[in-house]
Amino acid sequence: TQHDGALVSLEGVTVAFGGVLALNDVSFTIAAEDGIVGIIGPNGAGKSTCLSVIAGARPATSGAVTALGRPLGRRPNATRLARAGVVRTFQIPRPFAEMTIRENVVVALASSRRARTAELVTQADELLERLGLAAMAGSPAGSLPLAMRKKLEVGRAVASSPKLLLLDEVFEGLSDTEIDDMVRILRELHADGIHLVLVEHVLRALRQLAQTLIVFEKGQVLAQGDVETVLSSAEVKEAYLGD
Ligand code: ADP
Ligand code: MG
Repeated sequence: TQHDGALVSLEGVTVAFGGVLALNDVSFTIAAEDGIVGIIGPNGAGKSTCLSVIAGARPATSGAVTALGRPLGRRPNATRLARAGVVRTFQIPRPFAEMTIRENVVVALASSRRARTAELVTQADELLERLGLAAMAGSPAGSLPLAMRKKLEVGRAVASSPKLLLLDEVFEGLSDTEIDDMVRILRELHADGIHLVLVEHVLRALRQLAQTLIVFEKGQVLAQGDVETVLSSAEVKEAYLGD
């Protein structure tokens, strides 16, 4: 097909919630050469719905979707897709609140590999060290402040061995230092070969991190291209100021 080699392709995708078209005839392609990709746009533009569709968590009402070269079909299966390497995080993190941070990561690691518990705990602690969460590893995940929960959400997603990682507003609520820290972590993941697509409002982070932007407005793609070109376009400025 015309999308051979695409990491993600949407072709005429519509998602309807009753009368609301969260996505309205959306078509775009993401290729490995696009580098780290940011999806931006006003609240309600359809960004989170788009991630859900790519991750197979929500079927398109109409249109065709592929992720990592797999056609998702009418009845996508998010668990199967996650095993194939397509993993998303949620805008509102969903850790197992009663479990510790370490246990949350161990559970995610166990979903993608077979290893003895002691080995999984060692791997979990290495990952938590990298995320700057090592000091809290024994605390219940539900008690964490938002910024830490965002990091844990990334950690859990990474622990399930993604090839394509879809991140929903992971910079939200982070301080400037925490943003720099998260940028560094995500750059490392990308250097390790994980393809990244981020829905994000924090443009400062995207400017540092992304090579390509896709702009959503009212369920449609308003623009796609390299970061500075897209951000300097009059149409995109207008959409943002009009929010
Ligand atoms: P964004 O992430 O860009 O803020 P969303 O994808 O969350 O936008 O939402 C797009 C539109 O779809 C909004 O109008 C929202 O209210 C609606 N929507 C999203 N999820 C649901 C749902 N589960 N049920 C009904 N409407 C929804
Ligand atoms: Mg959203």
